[in-house]
Amino acid sequence: IPVDPFDLVIFGGTGDLARRKIIPALFRRFCAGQMPDDSRIIAAARSEMDDDGYREFAREAIAEFGKKSADNKKALKGFLKQLHYVPVDAKGEGGWESLKSLLRDDENVVRAFYFSVGPSLFADLAKQVRSHELSTRESRIVVEKPFGHDLESARALNEELAQHFHEDQIYRIDHYLGKETVQNLMAVRFGNMLFEPLWNAQYVDHIQITVAETVGVEGRGSYYDKSGAMRDMVQNHLMQLLCLIAMEPPARFEADAVRDEKLKVIRALDPVDPDQIVRGQYTSDGEMASYREDAENATSKTESFIALKCYISNWRWANTPFYLRTGKRLAARASEIAVVFKETPHSIFGIDSGRHRNVLSIRLQPNEGMTLGVTIKEPGPGGMRLVDVPLDMSFAEALGPEAEEVTDAYERLIMDVIRGNQTLFMRGDEVEAAWAWTDPLIEGWERRGDSPKPYDAGSIGPDDAAFLINRDGRRWRGIK
Ligand code: NAD
Repeated sequence: IPVDPFDLVIFGGTGDLARRKIIPALFRRFCAGQMPDDSRIIAAARSEMDDDGYREFAREAIAEFGKKSADNKKALKGFLKQLHYVPVDAKGEGGWESLKSLLRDDENVVRAFYFSVGPSLFADLAKQVRSHELSTRESRIVVEKPFGHDLESARALNEELAQHFHEDQIYRIDHYLGKETVQNLMAVRFGNMLFEPLWNAQYVDHIQITVAETVGVEGRGSYYDKSGAMRDMVQNHLMQLLCLIAMEPPARFEADAVRDEKLKVIRALDPVDPDQIVRGQYTSDGEMASYREDAENATSKTESFIALKCYISNWRWANTPFYLRTGKRLAARASEIAVVFKETPHSIFGIDSGRHRNVLSIRLQPNEGMTLGVTIKEPGPGGMRLVDVPLDMSFAEALGPEAEEVTDAYERLIMDVIRGNQTLFMRGDEVEAAWAWTDPLIEGWERRGDSPKPYDAGSIGPDDAAFLINRDGRRWRGIK
């Protein structure tokens, strides 16, 4: 279904995110017939460039990152015509009047401003957009990550944005929420009778959330060194996944109903004991640089890996551990949420059959999809032996070829901005609550002067991360 016509201004339109994600995502929506022909995409950035220069930039971006859509030459021609470029200085006066002249005064045209620039410019842009009267009460702003560095800075940013825009105009992106599987998680939880009655401390043994990356911090080492895995991944992405897994059913699938429930989860999180947190830093494998080399900081104590155990103190989840881990330069690129159910209370099949438990695995990458591990009889005449087999809900298999090219998170999220749907965006109070939980943990290890444990590049992280879960009689799931 096409969205309303729009004027979308992309501040930072010449940046890496615009090139790799935003422009290819918009083109794919154009090819799918969702973007009306009379929409305008106006890139605004510091570089001197004209419309033709920007169209060439976009053509190259689509050729490189557009996947199958890049072959659609006819559509490409039409799409490029809708692109414009204006040099603008976020901190100065240059360019704003030209930008204004490209925006249409038509109440049927949605106006949105995407802040795809470094976080130090978010507040400047909000102010400039308002003071040059570029926005109306209906306009929207999209704010990239990171949203603050701690509670204080996030609060300050929320306050600055609030001086110029209402909360219902502010779209804080966490692209994990735009992933097809993450939305499917909600469909599975709240669209089936099967899972929700079991979705609690009585039947769930524990939950694991893993986001493993093979890449290091090369290229953005100096930025990352001031952040670390806790700020860069846990405070936002892993926390959002945790919320969707743990929240109570909202009454409706609507922005505030969903976000109210997520906020309650964050507020119910217990503080984490220092001995339930393992931080790590990758070492060189001989070929690739170590974290400290990548970060150009020989004494860095920043973590490129973190594993922790936390609890949600409410009726549903009391005493159910949530194990979270994420890291760079690990053995495989894999993101998974695993809901590990308790063992059956009694085995009627004798000791030979072993004890089995169901695991619902929600894979974000690679191969987005879900698998439910169920126990069945091993085929054959060998007696009543039990085996675990996966019930695989891979999108490609279940839904046919059109599901194969799963919609990229940015496609979904940008279209939601145009539609005015904030369900998959973070509200200001959610972000602040997440920082309020992470800040004391970070302050704790900084105060103690803890050093992260070294781990081999290409491994599954430091040994202590395994001990963290093994001492509870549990194991991490494999990431390969
Ligand atoms: P980038 O450095 O590649 O691009 C920055 C853009 O901002 C450029 O277009 C530049 O011209 C523009 N810019 C800089 N200063 C300006 C000024 N004073 N006035 C106007 N324009 C100015 O950055 P990026 O990687 O594209 O990231 C953009 C934002 O997206 C950041 O907040 C980043 O944290 C976030 N982000 C990026 C990625 C990614 O994969 N690149 C992923 C997630 C989030």
